[in-house]
Amino acid sequence: MSYKLIDGKAHAQVIKDDVRARVCLLKDCGWQPHLVSIDIGGNPAVALYINNQRRACEQVEIDFENRHYPADITQLEMLAAIQSLNVDPRVTGIILQRPLPRHLDLKELQNAIHRTKDVEGMNAANIGKIVYGDSLLGPCTSLASVALLRATGLALPGLEVVVVGHSEIVGKPVALLLMEELATVTICHHATRNLAYHTRQADALIVAVGRPGLITGGMIKPGAAIIDIGINQIEVANPDGTTTKKIVGDVDFESVYDVAGWITPVPGGVGPVTVAILLRNTVLATERQKQHYELNMRS
Ligand code: NAP
Repeated sequence: MSYKLIDGKAHAQVIKDDVRARVCLLKDCGWQPHLVSIDIGGNPAVALYINNQRRACEQVEIDFENRHYPADITQLEMLAAIQSLNVDPRVTGIILQRPLPRHLDLKELQNAIHRTKDVEGMNAANIGKIVYGDSLLGPCTSLASVALLRATGLALPGLEVVVVGHSEIVGKPVALLLMEELATVTICHHATRNLAYHTRQADALIVAVGRPGLITGGMIKPGAAIIDIGINQIEVANPDGTTTKKIVGDVDFESVYDVAGWITPVPGGVGPVTVAILLRNTVLATERQKQHYELNMRS
């Protein structure tokens, strides 16, 4: 593998090895990390993510349970289901699979997951804590992006970082995490007047938009680190007239590769590290629940 490519799979493995060791320690004390996935409506695209999560959990001996709920479940019924998971002592982590059926309020459901079991880091309490420099149960993709940027060896204090995309799940939290590291952060979005002007200033560029080919080689500073969070399915034409489906990021890999100093591939970059951090958050959540239980027993 080229030195320019930031190997997400290798970084994910390091995190998973640590998680596995910590799961063993927890098990020795009678605590089994147990991640419950909430799957509403059985969307086939989501089934793929669920299978990846299940496999990853098996590798580190975290119990994984997918609970399926019908597509026509009401908001109130779903809130009640989450509440029963919150109070179930066997459940140490909860993940809400997206997208949800349109009639359900995503934010309300994410906030209903108890903050100590919110292993996606999407409860307002956990996202809000980032402002105070506490990212213990932070959003997985944002933490993964910062981990991969660190892997370049670039010093984060003073680094000019441009984040493209300001969603609540990725762009905003990643910008906050980087500010905490004293990077100089610029955030771009659909109203940014001259995107290329900003991206060309970046020592590190983090892109989370969902538009294939948005960033091209001419838009980046030579030697910059490129963290491509986007996941897009495109159809590529074959010589025989047929098409093949392909997963690509938001960065035009071919033109950017020659100019960049480092780049994350898609697939194989941010994605595997995001899953590894979900596992790490699950083990962290279990460790914290164990500590709280022990403190309560003592008092
Ligand atoms: P999202 O909620 O749709 O947000 C997209 C962001 O891009 C918005 O802030 C939007 O701004 C901004 N944007 C739209 N057009 C733009 C443009 N031309 N220039 C600059 N910014 C623009 O999506 P998301 O959930 O953040 O996900 C973004 C991408 O990351 C998707 O491809 C998703 O599949 C991928 N993703 C990957 C992982 C992973 O583990 N690798 C995890 C999560 C997401 P406005 O809101 O102002 O329009």
